[in-house]
Order: sequence, then C-alpha cells, then structure tokens
Amino acid sequence: MRELYIAGNWKMNYKPGEAAVFAKQIADAVKNLKVKVMIAPPFVCLPAVTEAVKGSNVIVAAQNVNDHASGAYTGEISCDMLKDIGVNTVIVGHSERRQYYGETNEFINKKVLFAIENEMDVILCVGETLEERDSGRLEKVLADQINIGLSGVSENQMEKITVAYEPVWAIGTGKTATPSDADSAHAYIRSLIAEKFGKTVAENTIIQYGGSVKPANAKELMACSNIDGALVGGASLTLEPFLSIINASKK
Ligand code: PEP
Repeated sequence: MRELYIAGNWKMNYKPGEAAVFAKQIADAVKNLKVKVMIAPPFVCLPAVTEAVKGSNVIVAAQNVNDHASGAYTGEISCDMLKDIGVNTVIVGHSERRQYYGETNEFINKKVLFAIENEMDVILCVGETLEERDSGRLEKVLADQINIGLSGVSENQMEKITVAYEPVWAIGTGKTATPSDADSAHAYIRSLIAEKFGKTVAENTIIQYGGSVKPANAKELMACSNIDGALVGGASLTLEPFLSIINASKK
C-alpha cells in the first residue's frame, strides 16, 4: 500500500524568519496526521526551517541540488551541504528548472544519480507542455523523462524515488488536468516504471500529481487509484489551503 505524500514547493517565496514561523505552524497542525508531508523552502531558509520543524514529522526538502560533490560551481549547493543541515530530500527536474534554466533529461539524470548515491530521497518531476500534449507527444515526452531521468538507477534505489507528474500547462495557471486525464498519465508512468524496474517496484513507487492543486480539486484527484499525493505550489504558501489539501487527500 503506497503512502499518501503531500509536498509544498515554496519556490522563491519567504525569507528565513517568516519561513520558520510558517513551517512551525504546519508542523503543529499535521502532528497527528498519517499523511507524509514535505515542504521545500528556498535554500537560505533551510537552516531556519529545519530547526523550526525539528522533532516533527514534516520533511524539509531542497528545490534543487548540484551533481558534483564540491568545487568550482559558483552559485550551487551540494548534497553534503544539505545533509549537514538535516535536509535529506530534494526536488529534481522541476519544469521551471527545465524551462528557465535549460535543464535536460540527461542533466537531471546526473542529479538524480548523485543525490541517491548520497543517500538522499528524490522527487523527480516530469510532465508535458500543452504543445507536446496537443501534438500527440505526451507518451513520448513522459517516456523520455522517465527512462533518461532514471537511467542507471537500480531496483533497490527506486525506494529513494518519488515521481511527480506535473503537466507544465497546469502549473500556476489555475488549469488542472481532469482527474481521469491525470490518472491515465499516472498509470502510463507506472507502466514505464514497471517496464524498467518490474511490477513490484512500480506498485510501490509514489506518484504525486502537481498543477494547480487546490482544496477544491484535491479530493477528486487523490481519489484516483494511481495518484498518491500532490506536489503543490501556490496553494502551499498559506496554511489554510495547504492543510485543506492535506486533509482532503486522505483516501
Ligand atoms: C509546482 O510548481 O510544482 C506546482 C504544481 O505549482 P502550482 O500548484 O502553483 O500549480
């Protein structure tokens, strides 16, 4: 049985002080819930946020990581640095990184491999643009993102991987995939994982949906058999909607 996993990607929002206060509110509110909850604040907020949620069941993640151990990579952050402050989870391949910073499937794969070799948990984001969907390339795009993104990952290491299906056209736009469209994309992703790693791994892999998830649509989306949680952007930035999504998500 796959665990329900709700994650909040704060993107480039909040300064350390306000992030810590907000994170503590979330930690207090979810302490008795049986849902896996993660928050991903900006890098500079990570020390304050990890401190604020210490002892709680809230996971703190980074929004990105470098694919090298250390060295001359100006502006970058390593796995070791994250782990040193208690951050053991990272989002890799978010569509904004692909779109604005030119991250390719091959580059994303290097980060995935480096992160899991360093014992980190990874949320690998995949998803098609509207143009790719409308021109009938949905399956090819997802197959490349999964097959290249997870190249070199072993069956055992798949325990460290969560996949987030985030159709690019639904991110921050207010447009959501219909539950049945989302569920069929998730089923397809699961079939790709089954082909690559076998049926058991596919059945155990958590696949989150992301793209304008809100309290109003969370229940319907999470009720789908292949949707195991959500990666939430905008609606994770304030307490009420994020908590409503977490509560609505209980299957
Ligand atoms: C995201 O950025 O991962 C996301 C899903 O954003 P939003 O919920 O705002 O669409």
